[in-house]
Amino acid sequence: MKEIVSIMDVDIDKITLREANEKVKDFLKKEKPSIIYTPNTEIIMAADKDPFLKDILNDGDLTIADGIGLVYAARIKNKDLPERVTGYDLSLNILEIANKFGYSIFLLGGKEGIGEIAKEKIKQKYPNVKIVGVQNGYFKGTHIGFKDHKEEKKVISDINKSKADILFVGLGAPKQEFWIHENKTKLNNKVIIGNGGTIDHLAGIVKRAPQIYQNLGIEWLYRLIKEPNRIKRQKVLPLFVLKVLFSKNIIR
Ligand code: UDP
Repeated sequence: MKEIVSIMDVDIDKITLREANEKVKDFLKKEKPSIIYTPNTEIIMAADKDPFLKDILNDGDLTIADGIGLVYAARIKNKDLPERVTGYDLSLNILEIANKFGYSIFLLGGKEGIGEIAKEKIKQKYPNVKIVGVQNGYFKGTHIGFKDHKEEKKVISDINKSKADILFVGLGAPKQEFWIHENKTKLNNKVIIGNGGTIDHLAGIVKRAPQIYQNLGIEWLYRLIKEPNRIKRQKVLPLFVLKVLFSKNIIR
């Protein structure tokens, strides 16, 4: 039985990055797709307002705490989440696993041309990984309100034809969660992970915050300095802190 901490009724796996790697290895042995979601604090707040998004996150096979705020919040309420496990770090480990065992990956998401750059960079660093397909995230699909559109059907058919073991879905949150949820039963991958800007990071067009910001738990501040219009999304963060401090049973 998996151990979870429930934050605003979203079940987050009580798991370290190392344990998450082992889960991924188990998932890769199964036939049916296993779904990995990577919510941060902003997404938990969004799910608090959107029961459908909450149900989607709770339907995942592995849901990791990609936000230091979630780890601190759990700690304040004496519910230990062992560490922050980012979608990006887990994705790098998935690349390592794929490199070691020769698994194939399809990259879905990012702007036109970015997936191809990421593919080249992956080839250099992880030579045994087979990138069997690349598709930008700007087609008409569920993530932008075009469920079952012919462009979406073509993307699904391309992914299935590629026979990729692993699918990276980097459409940003919560678009990627809606897209995965709608299409997971049509896909034949073994692992599907919604991993935000990972493809951009792999391509080297977006830099991760320096280690010092990561260690201090203020990666959000670095991202805000780099992209000031993220303030629209980040303004929910103080509200999250207040909710955690002053509401009962918000974390179980
Ligand atoms: N993205 C996409 N299709 C869309 C919207 C976004 O492929 O319709 C991609 C975008 O190019 C970027 C990634 O999703 O590579 C993450 O976007 P964003 O920074 O908005 O999300 P976050 O990383 O905060 O989840």
